[in-house]
Amino acid sequence: MPIEQKIKQNIILAPLTTFKIGGPAKFFIEVKSKEEFLQALDWAEKEKQDVFVLAGGSNVLINDNGIKGLVIKISNSNIKIKGERIECGAGANLAVAVSMATKENLTGLEWAVGIPGTIGGAIRGNAGGYGSNIGEIIETVEVLDARKNQFLQFSRRDCEFNYRISIFKTNSDLLIWQTTLRLKKGRGDEIKKEINKYVKIRSKTNPKLPSAGSIFKNINFKILNENNIHLAEKAKEEGVVKDEMVGAGWLIDILDLKGKTIGGAKISLEHANFIVNTGKATAEDVITIISYIKQQVRDRFKVQLQEEIQYLGF
Ligand SMILES: Cc1cc2nc3c(=O)[nH]c(=O)nc-3n(C[C@H](O)[C@H](O)[C@H](O)COP(=O)(O)OP(=O)(O)OC[C@H]3O[C@@H](n4cnc5c(N)ncnc54)[C@H](O)[C@@H]3O)c2cc1C
Repeated sequence: MPIEQKIKQNIILAPLTTFKIGGPAKFFIEVKSKEEFLQALDWAEKEKQDVFVLAGGSNVLINDNGIKGLVIKISNSNIKIKGERIECGAGANLAVAVSMATKENLTGLEWAVGIPGTIGGAIRGNAGGYGSNIGEIIETVEVLDARKNQFLQFSRRDCEFNYRISIFKTNSDLLIWQTTLRLKKGRGDEIKKEINKYVKIRSKTNPKLPSAGSIFKNINFKILNENNIHLAEKAKEEGVVKDEMVGAGWLIDILDLKGKTIGGAKISLEHANFIVNTGKATAEDVITIISYIKQQVRDRFKVQLQEEIQYLGF
């Protein structure tokens, strides 16, 4: 089928996000093969349309007025286990990868249980939890360089992973197509025990209402210490410094902002770094509450919070 016939128009994006917020994509395509991916980029160039990538939609806030351009949903979701390696399409569900690794007694992905979204989205943001992140288990990533229209192989080092950062975040021409993860053989009972531990923690801390995960990045302890030595000491005393980081939620919680509501957006009662959609939240409500939190934290603690979520269409 010619690419023009695969491109849909005015597709509402809210249902494709975990926040359930966002207007329509002017143009929308789901790509499952490399050929479709290249053809879609080619079409966008000819039609002078900006390109936006959407995957699991679990780390994004989409404009209420939608996205004026071509939204490409990367949907190559194949997963193959080869010994201690897992080959995954960028559109593969992280949860499916965790469950397949567990069945094969492969260890290294337990921390990811309960994180929604895809492998591609996880790589771009170097998703992580409980002291681990996906960058640590990447062997290679196959990337489409949208500027050169060429697929390239990246090693882990090429990906320049850091806390919630990768080269894919700093260079939006680099689109993740597939990856090989390197895990290790482990003991089935130990892997299941770890998984159960994280499931239990998440069931207490992750809100049930729609959200986009942590809104803000956690804060580097060194930076906190430079900006506000008293707060840094308090963090140490309370034992909330983990891996040299302090949770953004801890600061928001001290300000007693849990439950604060603007329109349909509310700071979660379960976890102060989550904003939930109570039913009819708009992107504007979320942005207003984000600005409010940032201002409160800045005024009170002299700390500048940075968003972990990605804005699309603003
Ligand atoms: C309840 C809940 C709990 C969460 N817990 C965690 C957690 O513990 N740790 C954590 O790190 N995150 C967490 N998140 C956030 C989110 O799930 C992860 O960041 C996830 O990896 C995002 O993947 P996604 O497929 O949904 O990406 P999307 O939200 O679709 O996209 C995120 C960004 O990546 C870009 N992108 C997506 N795919 C590609 C690709 N193939 N190539 C290039 N760019 C791409 C998009 O353009 C966008 O800018 C949580 C979210 C929720 C809702």
